[in-house]
Amino acid sequence: MARVVDATKAYGSGGSEVRALDGASLDIPAGQFTAIMGPSGSGKSTLMHVMAGLDTVTSGQVWLGDTEITRLQDAELTLLRRRRIGFVFQSFNLVPTLDVAANIRLPFELDGRRPTRTQSEWIDHLVVSLGLSERLTHRPHELSGGQQQRVAIVRALATRPDLIFADEPTGNLDSRTGREVLALLAEASRTYGQSIAMVTHDPIAASFADRIVFLADGRVVDERPRSSAEAISSYMLGLEQRA
Ligand code: ADP
Ligand code: MG
Repeated sequence: MARVVDATKAYGSGGSEVRALDGASLDIPAGQFTAIMGPSGSGKSTLMHVMAGLDTVTSGQVWLGDTEITRLQDAELTLLRRRRIGFVFQSFNLVPTLDVAANIRLPFELDGRRPTRTQSEWIDHLVVSLGLSERLTHRPHELSGGQQQRVAIVRALATRPDLIFADEPTGNLDSRTGREVLALLAEASRTYGQSIAMVTHDPIAASFADRIVFLADGRVVDERPRSSAEAISSYMLGLEQRA
């Protein structure tokens, strides 16, 4: 569904160059829920940004389905993103002047369509599941960080995109709400065949995924099939001690 081949991403140049990605290769298989883990600074967010076409690689290739997005023009890329991808980023990216309901419907609005009845029912299900029913007429600044994060999650899932990228989607949530979010992501892949790539540092969150990919120093160093939170924890500890 998404593929990164030997990607590098360099920031700065000369002596101050930072290689956020350094030969990263990764597949996000269709219909699977993949967790991406790694120490802070290992390139997880950069990897998500380049896979979603929000940032460019310095070298290497990024594919979404059969399309190599590293070759696309901005306009084509924007359309592809709008039609096929949902994002939940660490900064939420909610529009401050729009209320919650309008923020959630924004992906439809931008694409010049209205949610169908089935889509509206799905949105209602998401809003209720994540406890946002009483917040639909509020604007982002009237919400807590956790509530803003939940709005960003509903928005990302609303159009049922083929592919969902989520960067620490449970980072600001209490554990019960975090589990609701993880259950929704798991439901999105299991029931609706959506492909999900989720960055997390939380072994419990990663234990919801079908597969866990480990990143260190800008490249993929290992991957595991679905594992318990305990097994993921001890693996992460080993990875951090070697770093
Ligand atoms: P992670 O999400 O795993 O914590 P990031 O992808 O955010 O890691 O960052 C990887 C490395 O790239 C870090 O060393 C970070 O400081 C650097 N980096 C990320 N974005 C930028 C940027 N815009 N300018 C310069 N350096 C950056
Ligand atoms: Mg990050």
